[in-house]
Amino acid sequence: MVHVEIRIYGGIGEIGGNKIVVSSNDGKAIILDFGKSFSREDAFFQHPYMPPSLPEDYFKTGLLPPTEGPEWRLADRETLGLIISHAHLDHWGYLPLVHSDTKIWMGSASYDIIKAYRDLRSDLKRLDEFQVRTFRTGDQLSLGEFTILPIHVDHSIPGAYGFIVECCGRKLVYTGDIRMHGPKAEMTMEFIDKASSEDIDLLIMEATKVAPENDPESSLVRILENRIWYRWGKEPPKRVHFEVKTEEEVREKMLYVLERSSSLALVEISTADVDRLRTAFNVARSLGREPILDERTAFLSHRLGRSGIKGLPQVGSYRVWRRRRGKGGIEVKYGVREPKAIKEFLLGIEDKMGPESVVWGDARAEILKEPESYVVITNNATRFLYEIPLGIKPPITFIMSRSEPFSEESALSLDRLLNWLMMYDVRRYYRIHVSGHLSPEQIGEVIEAINPRKVMPIHTEHPDLFDVYVPSRMSNLIHLPRLGEPFRVGDN
Ligand SMILES: [Zn+2]
Repeated sequence: MVHVEIRIYGGIGEIGGNKIVVSSNDGKAIILDFGKSFSREDAFFQHPYMPPSLPEDYFKTGLLPPTEGPEWRLADRETLGLIISHAHLDHWGYLPLVHSDTKIWMGSASYDIIKAYRDLRSDLKRLDEFQVRTFRTGDQLSLGEFTILPIHVDHSIPGAYGFIVECCGRKLVYTGDIRMHGPKAEMTMEFIDKASSEDIDLLIMEATKVAPENDPESSLVRILENRIWYRWGKEPPKRVHFEVKTEEEVREKMLYVLERSSSLALVEISTADVDRLRTAFNVARSLGREPILDERTAFLSHRLGRSGIKGLPQVGSYRVWRRRRGKGGIEVKYGVREPKAIKEFLLGIEDKMGPESVVWGDARAEILKEPESYVVITNNATRFLYEIPLGIKPPITFIMSRSEPFSEESALSLDRLLNWLMMYDVRRYYRIHVSGHLSPEQIGEVIEAINPRKVMPIHTEHPDLFDVYVPSRMSNLIHLPRLGEPFRVGDN
């Protein structure tokens, strides 16, 4: 008899790194997501000094199942397609490792975002060798016996999808990353409605927010704050945390904080979180402050605008904070190893808006003389602080507004950030943020609505706590997957 089996190679006991192999016993398979495992990678390697550099490095540490040859492919199955849910690295970051004959599918916005990354990073050049096909919601992919329905969902990056996969009379749902409180919540609802109308054997669902305490960040922050006490002999900056539930509340709180500030506003957002970018940008405009975007945020915004995403900051409506480059001990406008795409983008802006639209060199000090006139929006606040010229100490109101889940690796960068904030005498900063993920309570609602025969948590550090949020009459449906362990769909 034909059967369908899944094996999961990442995202178990960790946030991200999802890789789900769905196979039938005629030797064919599809793969859902091919994410980079940040925490597992950090456990064994260090960037940039000791990164994984050969394929075997990934195999011996269990980051990928072993395969022959330098390019990765499933050893015991023919892969009909590799399908990416959205453009966060923890869902696609290992793509450059796969065999170049792998057929790759993703939503068109995801492809645009990934191409923009490729133009900024030399380690992604291999992506040019792949044939990528794109889909939109409503499409149906037929790969051998597999039928895959991609359905749009709301998440902290545009163009995210969940999937309903059917093969040989079995059906499974994979949520990817989803939220129900974002500006496009109705898309997530459409996905859940569609999944609810089907007879689902297995639901593989994201459980990012399942954790012993609601804000896993806070305990790490405490430790870092202690280190600041020891290092500086002074009180660390106080963290003012606003509980918010929707993007609209993020806007209200940002406005609330900045209305009463005459300092330079510095807002850190996640890369490609277009909702947050729009929010911060609109807050700046409504306060009559000029927005300054760091060059990478501006570049990505430009690319995404070009690919049809609406309401993003247009070239001409902001200035660009140039990433600092040094040569022979002085700052230069363009370094030697400059990504061509960035250089062209900046030259294009200057052509259109004049040289003062790109801030670098002496112009930095000019801007910082009028701190109350600007809002700096960046995906790397630490870098901005370090690029402030010597001898200038602008008053700063810092808002931390990243929406990605917190990891150990980001703890190190948070430590650096706190030190730079100390350097500029920032005595308090604001945490205003709404997650890109389902709240634990919503996890229960989704399971109830879809009503599957089995449910598996993925993309969480605490799968053992998943049962707390599953309706009690359904708790016998939970299966906690183990890395690489086969699970037959529909037979249990
Ligand atoms: Zn994500």
